[in-house]
Amino acid sequence: MGKYLLLIGGAILVYWIVRAALRRRSREIAQRQDKAAPEDMVRCTVCGTHLPRGESLTVGGQFYCCVEHQRRHDPGA
Ligand SMILES: [Zn+2]
Repeated sequence: MGKYLLLIGGAILVYWIVRAALRRRSREIAQRQDKAAPEDMVRCTVCGTHLPRGESLTVGGQFYCCVEHQRRHDPGA
């Protein structure tokens, strides 16, 4: 019986250590992301969706969230 209690105690201990380590790591990652310069957010001319500038399509000074919206706004391009 004592052996089982020891086993359960050990399992709980391992669980706590792993959980604390994971929590510390996720906090570090979150802090690192906070420090990174936030990317400019731009607005799709067609649907108004906000998205990072790097993910947007920029045509003639207008921002679009996808090729389809870019085409819809300016079919000639
Ligand atoms: Zn759009």
